[in-house]
Amino acid sequence: MKLIDCADVLVMGAGPAALCIVAELVQEGLQVKALASHAPDQRWPNTYGIWAEEVESLGMASLLGHRWSNTVSYFGNGIDEHSLSPVQHNFDYGLFDQAALQKALLLKCGDVTWHLETAAKIHYLGADTEVTCRSSNTYRARVVIDASGHKSSFIRRPNHGPVAQQAAYGVVGRFSAPPVDIKQFVLMDFRPDHLTEAELKEPPSFLYAMDLGDGVFFVEETSLACAPPLSWNSLKARLHSRLSNRGIEIEEILHEEHCLFPMNLPLPDRNQSLLAFGGSASMVHPASGYMVGALLRRAPTLAKHLAQAIAIQPELDSEALARRGWEVLWTPELVNRHRLYQFGLGRLMSFDEARLRNFFATFFRLPREDWSGFLANTLPLSRLLIVMLRLFGMSNWNVRTGMIFGAPRSKT
Ligand SMILES: Cc1cc2nc3c(=O)[nH]c(=O)nc-3n(C[C@H](O)[C@H](O)[C@H](O)COP(=O)(O)OP(=O)(O)OC[C@H]3O[C@@H](n4cnc5c(N)ncnc54)[C@H](O)[C@@H]3O)c2cc1C
Repeated sequence: MKLIDCADVLVMGAGPAALCIVAELVQEGLQVKALASHAPDQRWPNTYGIWAEEVESLGMASLLGHRWSNTVSYFGNGIDEHSLSPVQHNFDYGLFDQAALQKALLLKCGDVTWHLETAAKIHYLGADTEVTCRSSNTYRARVVIDASGHKSSFIRRPNHGPVAQQAAYGVVGRFSAPPVDIKQFVLMDFRPDHLTEAELKEPPSFLYAMDLGDGVFFVEETSLACAPPLSWNSLKARLHSRLSNRGIEIEEILHEEHCLFPMNLPLPDRNQSLLAFGGSASMVHPASGYMVGALLRRAPTLAKHLAQAIAIQPELDSEALARRGWEVLWTPELVNRHRLYQFGLGRLMSFDEARLRNFFATFFRLPREDWSGFLANTLPLSRLLIVMLRLFGMSNWNVRTGMIFGAPRSKT
């Protein structure tokens, strides 16, 4: 067993959360170590989408590999003539160029060494924390940040019952006809005209789709959140029936995406000696499933506060440092916003497909800064409350009743 010397901070993971926080800790001049089950420059399995304004505000727009100005959604029933025309978002959306994002973050990480290790056990020694890996190697730091994703077994969190998952099945490929318009991005196509009466009573799903250029498109059947989650097989069947209803066949599959991650994971216990960042810290936006913008925005503040605490109060032990971190990561303001989003998601999960379409059609009639701020989680709590009340006021009675009481779906 090899004991490796003590760092200020040890980060576990090599996904977007780990790279974001390591980069900022290094910028603060801290001595940082990292360990992960795979190399930090190994291509991430997911592609990350984000509204362009969010990356622009971070000065990172050049890291987008794709960008669309023609961004639309469909919330009609797919039968009435007016429902065939899309809702125009008039707001650019982008996909990160993964390699460029990883490279930019790694560049900011400087010469931090990533040990290719899988953490197995964590011991709190008071002043420091020790992580023992499957190899039996042990790493020590004044505080450890778990950025190992939402499946982390190290982070303590309350059990609030079944966790709703976002599930999706997608195909990057070539099609007999364009599944969306050329140069178009479709955030949500909820049109249900390919579904049978029985299928209409099942938890709803929508199409997320985009033109990737050169005759290649990405189409993904997505269930926003459901517990238990919709199976990939049923999402795949729905995608095929949606496409064939429009006379479109998949001609070539270049890549298949199977997506499953928790949307309303309870917030971690903020009194534990281990800090977390990213999926393990429940940072996924409970109403949209997005997180990368939040990682890029929130990493600098967390790193700055940790660096100050370590520099000014060298006597702070792991528990005290972790507590400082949790206070910054989940301020009362952010906790309250999270609760509101979780409440909203709970209501949406109870809606049948017609009520859900109605809800989203109203949501995207909000002023753009309100709906985009809601989706990015950049609205202050007071504004968020006003926006939610405004949305309630704009909704029809069917949606309002669902917002107040929930709306159990009738069983097939
Ligand atoms: C298919 C899919 C698509 C998504 N699309 C978007 C999107 O478009 N936009 C968006 O903002 N969000 C998206 N998300 C949500 C979220 O941003 C991602 O889940 C994101 O990858 C979470 O980042 P993370 O770094 O917290 O965890 P992960 O990306 O899961 O990374 C975890 C890291 O920890 C390592 N690890 C795990 N266990 C250990 C251990 N015991 N010891 C050491 N290392 C360990 C892993 O090897 C990995 O490097 C998507 C999620 C999925 C699943």
